[in-house]
Amino acid sequence: MDAYLEKAGGYLRHLCLDIPTRLVGTAGNRAATDFFERTANSLGWRTETQRFDSLDYKTGNINLQAGETRFAVSISPYSLGCNVQAELSIAASIEELRAGDHRGKILLLKGDLTKEQLAPKKYVFYNPDHHQEIYRLLESQQPAAIITATAKNPAMAGAQYPFPLIEDGDFDIPTAFMTDVEGERLAAWAGKALRLEMEAQRLPSWSENVCAFNGSQAGKRVVVCAHIDAKTGTPGAVDNASGVVVLLLLAEMLKTHPVAAPVELLAMNGEDHYSAGGELAYLNRHAGHLDEIRLAINVDGAGYRGSPSEISFYECPPGERDLALAEMKKYASIREGAIWYQSDHMVFAMNQVPAIALTTAAFMDMETEIAHTEKDTPELVDLPLLVDIARFLDAFISGLAQGGEHD
Ligand SMILES: [Zn+2]
Repeated sequence: MDAYLEKAGGYLRHLCLDIPTRLVGTAGNRAATDFFERTANSLGWRTETQRFDSLDYKTGNINLQAGETRFAVSISPYSLGCNVQAELSIAASIEELRAGDHRGKILLLKGDLTKEQLAPKKYVFYNPDHHQEIYRLLESQQPAAIITATAKNPAMAGAQYPFPLIEDGDFDIPTAFMTDVEGERLAAWAGKALRLEMEAQRLPSWSENVCAFNGSQAGKRVVVCAHIDAKTGTPGAVDNASGVVVLLLLAEMLKTHPVAAPVELLAMNGEDHYSAGGELAYLNRHAGHLDEIRLAINVDGAGYRGSPSEISFYECPPGERDLALAEMKKYASIREGAIWYQSDHMVFAMNQVPAIALTTAAFMDMETEIAHTEKDTPELVDLPLLVDIARFLDAFISGLAQGGEHD
């Protein structure tokens, strides 16, 4: 058996099974970054970390009751707790939110208002005006608590149903979430008294990015990144332990055939967290110096069993792109795919750094059925796909180093 296959399996199982969660702010997340750092060091890479403050949270019981009737409801991640008795009011549109008198009430949000998950208040990479307006209205109306009823919307929240409309440690009105079906049951109690008790706590914590360097100094560096964090409640195998496995395989390959170009392997920590803490810490660390990066390559959601990997390009110069496409032809499991305006390659592309993304061709299936759920387990990962990506990147980066600078 290929030694790299065996290593890939070991790394994957350790990240997904030995470590119970890689949610930003948790001890599991720090165990994962420690493991990445230790392994990179043992393979001869020098490491640097960027530590940042982050929140963890703890939730207990929730009970929502109207008279003797109880409802199926969950506490939104990072919500504050509460114990309130208040009248139920409802808003199904921005107009109803604007016009209604929701102060001090338990406010049910549904319909048009809950079609897509709200970008966190302070999220810098994506922040549409209509989301910000909803937050502004909620904060000026000051309901005592908010219940959000959501339908299945895979494009915005992975495969979660119901999904929490609000997942934001910077929003201070207690918030819970339920299905659209349960929301209709609850809506029948409009104007009547409800009781909502929920136990929830925010816990100040920290996390870090780990950057590993191969030690070469000549010219601009190539950054290969994969987010190491996962959502709560998922082993996060395809999303995105598989990307971290690729980084570690590549760390070994690039030491076996050293390249003259500086390479940074970056375990980014925050792609699946409301604060995007790792992304901001990285941009802060390299503020004014992002032009020292020749190319950023992001691996996210790759290795999904039964589907090839897909590569896409973002403001990538023709020289780099042609070299990647030529090298790719040697791998039946990698092909060119659609542009993807999410994930960490966009952090670079938005800052004028040429970028490449690698993910699965079955991206939509993965997002609608698997991502962010307990179903995202190591059995779904096809290890040879990951070894192919690492071999491809090894050869591509070696080729870049030999071809010299193109700028
Ligand atoms: Zn991901």
